[in-house]
Amino acid sequence: PVIRIAPGGQGGRVIEGIAVTSPDRVIFPGCGVTKGDLAAYYAAAAPLMLAHCADRPLALLRLPEGLAGERFFQKHAGRGFPAQMRTTPIPGEDEPAIYVNTAAGLVAGAQMGVVEYHIRGIRRDRADRPDRLVFDLDPDEGLDFSQVRAAAIDLRDRLADLGLPTWPMLTGGKGIHVVADLRRTVGWDTVKLFARAFAHLLAAEQPGRYVAVMSKARREGRIFIDWLRNDAQATAVSAFSCRAREGATVAMPLSWDALDRTDGANAYDIRTALQAAPGIAPDRRRPVSLEPAARALAGG
Ligand code: ATP
Ligand code: MN
Ligand code: MN
Repeated sequence: PVIRIAPGGQGGRVIEGIAVTSPDRVIFPGCGVTKGDLAAYYAAAAPLMLAHCADRPLALLRLPEGLAGERFFQKHAGRGFPAQMRTTPIPGEDEPAIYVNTAAGLVAGAQMGVVEYHIRGIRRDRADRPDRLVFDLDPDEGLDFSQVRAAAIDLRDRLADLGLPTWPMLTGGKGIHVVADLRRTVGWDTVKLFARAFAHLLAAEQPGRYVAVMSKARREGRIFIDWLRNDAQATAVSAFSCRAREGATVAMPLSWDALDRTDGANAYDIRTALQAAPGIAPDRRRPVSLEPAARALAGG
């Protein structure tokens, strides 16, 4: 037999031109998913995932030893950073941001222990103008997923009344993110003000169902509408990111119809997400300006 020594060293595997070392190292002990599996997932997910995360400043959640070891977020490139992970200056910020526009970049992340990719609500060509509004629904422990799902639909309807089409994303954890794609007509001040006002309005109208403040004590039996993701430095997990949670679940964007047929925020994992994705893709219409919605909210 021909013995091939991969550039990754003994037992290494080359994926998208990246030498993935120790591909058999188990990252998720419960389900046996390895570093090689994760790298291969990101290579395969790239065409779909980059539509959500390319050109955006990233926060990388790294777990070099897998789920059992330490974990840390990284927003700035360090020494020995792979060339496939690019950096870009952001006006007003001291350190350049990291971004990834290629499958090789996503795989290079997996090689250095990145499990989760988180995005900011801006793209690098116009970093002062957000292009996403996101409400992160965080249910109190013990709440049923059906209640989170109903809440997401409630937000969808309320935002649609204001002229904002949205799409849902299962986080791969407990909740759902409700996202509006925005035309880049206003700054963070307006987006943040809108998000805060909208969340507080819902909590005031349905105090038994929603809270708009982070305090865990006040969440009892309710859903925290986490509007704080809407800020210049804030992040939310990218669609198609694997989650650093047992089961190697995936943050899954989907259509509202498909959400009706979904039983949990962790319904998809790296073995099932990509095959399912085309059949349940969200209806992402043209991005819309927040200004009319903000006026409608203020007037209504
Ligand atoms: P779940 O559905 O289980 O709530 P989630 O991804 O929404 O999953 P949250 O804890 O609600 O998890 O966090 C929302 C987002 O806020 C994360 O996706 C992440 O981008 C950001 N975030 C949370 N904690 C941190 C942190 N310690 N450092 C940086 N970003 C964080
Ligand atoms: Mn959440
Ligand atoms: Mn949250």
